[in-house]
Amino acid sequence: MDVRAPDSILGSPALTDLIGDTPLLPIGGLREVPGRVEVSGKAEWFNPGGSVKDRAAWGMVQAGERSGALTRDKILIDATSGNTGIAYAWIGAARGLRVRLCVPANASARRLRVIEAFGAELVLTSPMEGTDGAIREARRMVAEEPDRYFYPDQYSNPANWQAHYRTTAAEVWAQTEGRVTHLVAGIGTSGTLVGTARRLRELRPELEVVAVQPDSPYHALEGLKHLASCMVPAIYDPGAHQRTLEVTSEDAIDMAKRQARLGLLIGWSAGAALAAAERVARELERGTVVAILPDGAERYLDDPLWGEGA
Ligand code: PMP
Repeated sequence: MDVRAPDSILGSPALTDLIGDTPLLPIGGLREVPGRVEVSGKAEWFNPGGSVKDRAAWGMVQAGERSGALTRDKILIDATSGNTGIAYAWIGAARGLRVRLCVPANASARRLRVIEAFGAELVLTSPMEGTDGAIREARRMVAEEPDRYFYPDQYSNPANWQAHYRTTAAEVWAQTEGRVTHLVAGIGTSGTLVGTARRLRELRPELEVVAVQPDSPYHALEGLKHLASCMVPAIYDPGAHQRTLEVTSEDAIDMAKRQARLGLLIGWSAGAALAAAERVARELERGTVVAILPDGAERYLDDPLWGEGA
C-alpha cells in the first residue's frame, strides 16, 4: 500500500514553513566571563524536526525539486549520523518522497526509531567506519543504480551551506541587532559554520569565527567530525573560520549538564559549542558571542554518558 502524502495535502501552510526563525537565548552559568560580554545560543531544536539540519535538508530538497533532479519516482538517499536523516525523513514524508538513509549502526537508537517512524528506510553500516562508512555505502548504492536515486550528498552540496547563508546568518544578525562579534559553531558537514560565517563576515568583515572540533577521533560528540582523521567534506572551507578550538567530550557533556540545571536541555555538540564559547568569552573585555546549538538533549538522555545524578 502506498501511504505517501497525496498532492492534496502538500499545500500551504506547511510544516516546512516553520523551519528557521529559532530563538536566540541568553546563556547563563558560564564561568569567569566579564560582565560586558554577552553570550547567546541559537536554539536549533525549535525547528520542526528538532535540529539545525532541517535547514540544510530543506534547502537541498528544494534545490533538487527546482532543478528537476528530485521527482516523486526517485528515492532520496544520503548518509547521515542522525539529525539530517530525521530532517530528510520528515520532510520526505510531508512531501510524498521516498527516503533511504545510510547510517552507522551505532547511531543513537532513539534517532533511528524516529527516522523509521516517519517511514524512511535505514541501511545500517559498520559502526567501526563511522559516517565515512555510511558515505561509502550511499555512493556504492547510487553508482549501482544511478537512475533510481536522488543523492543530495550533504557533504558536497552547496545548497547545504547556502541554507545557512540565507537563513541562520540573517537571523543572527537581526536578533543581535548587528552586534554579533564572534560566531562559534561545530563542524559536521561544515554547512552551518561555512554558510553562517560567509554571510556574517560580509555584514561585519572583522567578525571572528571559531570552529569547534572534538579533541580526538574517539569522541562522544555525535554530529561533529574530527577533521584530521575523517574524510574532509567538499563544502568545507578552511578560510571560513579564523580559529579552531578543540573540546573534550567530558567538557562538552559537563557543559550540557550544567545548562540542564538552568533549564536548557541541550545536546552534546551544543555543549561543545558553549564550552568553546565560554573560552572565547573569557578572553574578551566586551563583545557579543553567538554559539549555534544544533539540537536538544532529548535524543541523548538514554546515553549512559548523561550519567547518574544528572
Ligand atoms: N551537531 C549535531 C548534533 C549534528 O547532528 C550536526 C550535523 N551533522 C552538527 C552538529 C554539525 O552541523 P553541520 O553538518 O552543519 O556542520
